[in-house]
Amino acid sequence: TGPTIGLDVGGTKIAGALIDPAGTVLQRRTVASPAADPDAIVAALAGLVAELSPAGTRPAVGAACAGYLDAEREAVRFAPNLAWRDFPLRRLLADATGHEVVIENDADAAAYGELICGAAQGSDDLVMVTLGTGVGGAVVHRGQVHRGAFGVGGELGHVRVERDGRLCGCGNRGCLEAYSSGTALLARAREAVASGAAGAAALSDACDGDVTALTGHDVSRLAAERDVLSVELLADVGRWLGEGLATVAAVVDPGLIVVGGGLSATGDLVLEPARTAYAQHLTGGAHRPVADMVLARLGNDAGMIGAAALAREERT
Ligand code: BGC
Ligand code: ZN
Repeated sequence: TGPTIGLDVGGTKIAGALIDPAGTVLQRRTVASPAADPDAIVAALAGLVAELSPAGTRPAVGAACAGYLDAEREAVRFAPNLAWRDFPLRRLLADATGHEVVIENDADAAAYGELICGAAQGSDDLVMVTLGTGVGGAVVHRGQVHRGAFGVGGELGHVRVERDGRLCGCGNRGCLEAYSSGTALLARAREAVASGAAGAAALSDACDGDVTALTGHDVSRLAAERDVLSVELLADVGRWLGEGLATVAAVVDPGLIVVGGGLSATGDLVLEPARTAYAQHLTGGAHRPVADMVLARLGNDAGMIGAAALAREERT
């Protein structure tokens, strides 16, 4: 009945929170992700768990991870933006902390969080995407997260949107993630500054001309201030997303599309172009209902809130 701990392990940062049974965040911490070192990530997670645990208690831990899990949810098979490869994370984190641990894919955890206390409450068939360092995906069918035969279903970020397109962290080319992630957005913004594009003055000023200092946050802030190029860069992220989701819809016919992850904080700057592109590319679009596309109500906390809920439910 006490609080549990939700962790969200991404390629850029690791977030953790102590969360009560209603899904309310009681306390939170964020650290940079030592993404290139498999064991250092575990050490960082164990550190967060220690900091977040009230004295004398061992709350159950749910870790939402940016990668492909095995069907047993014991190991991370592969992660495009983290160094984990066939990595027995659940046991290692349980050993390092002495707490009960469950692990889940971050987007699947986010969809679960939105299902139980967010924008997907009451929906049985939906798709969730998270826009961050990578693009996460979850397919919920009849109220259940679809895992597939081997545990890696719903990897919507790796649906191909362009033949021979941009290289993705997974090794393939043309994945949605290479167009609609925060990483892709920042890469395009840096290219514009580096090429001295006329419209890039505001972006260039934001980093004093040093492209390596430019952040995704700068682009989002400038877009909110109506800098034309920044608005266009976010719109492009949205158009790719809408097109990719139309392809996904041909397979799963979702009743609702929930968009989360850090980049979702930009709201309609990404969502409106995504809605338009989705409706345009949806097969038979004039003769079928077009699913609503909404922001995650739990925002970028959806993954850790979902993971904390799983930890509570699966506690032995
Ligand atoms: C990974 C997914 C993950 C997503 C968001 C992708 O690169 O393949 O498993 O959900 O990033 O972190
Ligand atoms: Zn990929």
